[in-house]
Amino acid sequence: MAAEQESLQVIASRYRALLALAHDVIYVLDAAGNLLDINAAGEQLTGYRRAELLGRPVADLVLPEHLPIMRQMLERKIEGQPATTYTVEIQARDGRRVVLEVNTRLVYRDGRPIEIHGIARDITERQQARAQRGFLTDVSQVLNATLDDDAILEHIAALAVPRVADYCIVDIIEPGGRLRRAAVRHADPACREVLAELAERYPPGRTNLSGVPAVLREGTTVFRPEIGPGEIEGAAQDARHLELLRTLDPRSAIMVPIWLEGQVGGAITLARTAASPAYTQADATMAEELASWAAQALTNARIYQATRHARTQAERAAEQIATLQRLTAALAQALTPAAVADVVVEHGIAAAGAYGGSLVARGAQADRLDVLAVAGYPTGTWESRAPIDLTADLPIVEAARTGEPIWLPTHAAYAARYPQMAAQTQTSTVALAAIPLSLGGRVLGALGLSFDTPQIFDAGARDFLLAIALQCAQALERARLYIDSQAQAARFAVLAEAAQAFAARSRDLPALQDLLCARAAAHVGDLALLAMRSDDGGQVAVAAIGHRDSDTLAALRPLLVGARYAADTNLYAAALDGQPLHRAGLAQAELWAALGAPAPPAYAHADTFDLLVVPLRAQGQVFGALGTLRAAAGRPYRDSDLALLQNLADRAALAIDNARLYAREQRARAEAEAAVQLRDTFLSVASHELKTPMTALLGQAQLIQRRDAREQQLSDRDRRSVAIIIAQIQRLNRLTMALLDTTRIQQGRLEIRRAPCDLIALLQHILDDVEPTLSQHRIAYMRPPGDLTIMGDALRLEQVVLNLLENAVKYSPQGGQIVVELVREGDEARLSVSDSGIGMPAADIPHLFTRFYRASNAAGSYISGMGIGLFVIREIVSLHGGRVGVTSEEGVGSTFSVWLPLAKARAASGSEVAACQPDTRSAEHGG
Ligand code: ADP
Repeated sequence: MAAEQESLQVIASRYRALLALAHDVIYVLDAAGNLLDINAAGEQLTGYRRAELLGRPVADLVLPEHLPIMRQMLERKIEGQPATTYTVEIQARDGRRVVLEVNTRLVYRDGRPIEIHGIARDITERQQARAQRGFLTDVSQVLNATLDDDAILEHIAALAVPRVADYCIVDIIEPGGRLRRAAVRHADPACREVLAELAERYPPGRTNLSGVPAVLREGTTVFRPEIGPGEIEGAAQDARHLELLRTLDPRSAIMVPIWLEGQVGGAITLARTAASPAYTQADATMAEELASWAAQALTNARIYQATRHARTQAERAAEQIATLQRLTAALAQALTPAAVADVVVEHGIAAAGAYGGSLVARGAQADRLDVLAVAGYPTGTWESRAPIDLTADLPIVEAARTGEPIWLPTHAAYAARYPQMAAQTQTSTVALAAIPLSLGGRVLGALGLSFDTPQIFDAGARDFLLAIALQCAQALERARLYIDSQAQAARFAVLAEAAQAFAARSRDLPALQDLLCARAAAHVGDLALLAMRSDDGGQVAVAAIGHRDSDTLAALRPLLVGARYAADTNLYAAALDGQPLHRAGLAQAELWAALGAPAPPAYAHADTFDLLVVPLRAQGQVFGALGTLRAAAGRPYRDSDLALLQNLADRAALAIDNARLYAREQRARAEAEAAVQLRDTFLSVASHELKTPMTALLGQAQLIQRRDAREQQLSDRDRRSVAIIIAQIQRLNRLTMALLDTTRIQQGRLEIRRAPCDLIALLQHILDDVEPTLSQHRIAYMRPPGDLTIMGDALRLEQVVLNLLENAVKYSPQGGQIVVELVREGDEARLSVSDSGIGMPAADIPHLFTRFYRASNAAGSYISGMGIGLFVIREIVSLHGGRVGVTSEEGVGSTFSVWLPLAKARAASGSEVAACQPDTRSAEHGG
């Protein structure tokens, strides 16, 4: 028995020794789970002494999340199910976690379990190795499936914690060289904020502890298997930093570089706290492998992104080209600037992804921009289409003013540049672009686009919008040219029609003036006024007005037509100086005061007027002015209006000037005719009255002469006196007769009596009479051979010859030779009388045979005359079927010739010729 007892003790101590030797933990629990016994391996593994452990519930050691599996396995055992090995994790005294593979059996007494016997093996390292393998497999799978930089880095951190690290930090060098903390992860959610604060307040690259700067600089792994508290204190920058680092409590860390395209592109930090075993060299190798996977994935992602970027760029370019083509096609259909603007705004908005757009263009007014199109803005924000002042502080106006595009990609940029506009909240504008429409260095206007999201105006986007703007500028210019050409064609038509109409009334001055005003009112302004300068130039008078509306015209006419103004004070002054005038915004009061009329009711509502006035010119003289008025609220005058008005005025001016000259000439002619009529009447009466006493005087003188011839009573002196009296009375008689002749000629009452007349005999007879009376002159005459008989009035022909001889004597006051020639020339006889007297200027010759005409050198000389002799001569000669001619040179002499048709040979009988003797003439003949 003693031996048996002894042997039981021996056996017990033997087992105890064996238990102490065992590497595995061997333990005994009671039915409630309290430790009854544990071997030395158990003490070593947990870090507690046996005495401390005995009696404690085993659940104190096991991590809470592993308790359920433990209980579950126990229950299965009690139910008699097959026992299996399972793993639990416990926390050692120093905080380390230990993974145990557990095997248990139940001990029963009286059918009830009273003890649990268990063996637990530390498989922490085995687990870790497996975890590492699994981790790297997972890493490769996850990263291979990810093509986004940030997602890759997030995945790395997420996979690493908690499997290979308690916390993980990934830092990446950005393209600009800045270090960015791309991902952080901590196994303990409570510590995530610590990591975030560290990243925020103590950015990477500053702390020595992290070792990241060294990794990035050297490109090599930094492996810190043990980190002591002193190191943490040394690394802390300030108290808070130290606090944060202490909370993190890193005990072991590995920092590995990420190599990207031959350069260090970032670093991964894996760290373990007291909760995990320190890193081993194998972990460092694993971390390097992780970094290479990361590098591979990042490189792939970047290549992918570059490819995708290139593809989206290409797609965008294609889309933009398509948009531009659509725009070009649509613009080709747009004929007016407004249509062009609509197309551009519509396509521009769509193509640019804007929500609203507008287009402004320089127009008629130099200091304003016309609003051609607005689209997309909410109602109430851009209702007015009134022209915008060029000085306005708006992006679109600034672009049109400066020719520089404005790109405001964000609301911040917008608010910085246009604070007032950006402060308005009716629109949702966040970004905007204002692009000038330029062509050949000229800025035609600007295109504005508003966006409700921030924009990236990169080179591609800008080029695209600039291309749209260029298309728009070209289309706008094309439309303008088209409209201009249409307008020009219309103007030409107006002018051509007006010119014809003016020509058709070329002699009717009032009609012309009315017509000009009507055309000016119809095509340029609403009301047209024509003012004509007085002859002395000091005044203007409104000669005519025109108005589009006939009722208004009728009402205005009595108010305005006929009004007179001083030429240098009123609205016409500039035009009368030859300067066209364009006045915009002329006030009502000023206008009607200048026109000297009350404002007519038709204009009661007009506020101000635009006025154009152009001069009316002809032959270098401004003789009037044409003005047109338009209520300023309507379409403003353009340069083309001024040109049209001036053109109308120019075309009318010639016609009006002609009509004025014509009227003036008509007046002068009527006056002259009346004067001539008066003179002729006087001459006719006077010569009739003179004729009777002269005939009586001549009769008495001739009676004395005849008595003396019979009785010889007179002294020689008295006889000569009587002869002189008779000669002078006869001369006076001839003059009176000539005067009477002219009145007869005027009235068509001069007649000749035709009879055969021998010109040679007639001339000889006259010369015989005249020669003795000449003292200073000598007549050279060669009587022609043969016979020169004409059918004529001998008395009238004698009058012709005497007159020519008288002139030859009178106009050669120095005396000299007078050559008389009578010759046959074909069927005519020519009689010429030449002198070497004063002659006459060539300019006078054509007028010489008109009534009362005297050559300029005779009229101004002392040689008296009335200018009727040659007039009568021509009449007598032409009544004979003959003609007259003269050659003369001033200061040299003159030759007057008369051609008379010769009588047919048969008619020239002797008896009839005798009837041509001058003796038979009587003073009354031909009267
Ligand atoms: P009157 O001699 O009375 O003026 P006439 O009818 O005979 O009128 O002549 C018209 C004008 O013709 C003259 O005034 C003179 O200027 C010019 N005239 C006529 N005959 C001559 C002449 N032989 N030499 C120069 N001038 C002449």
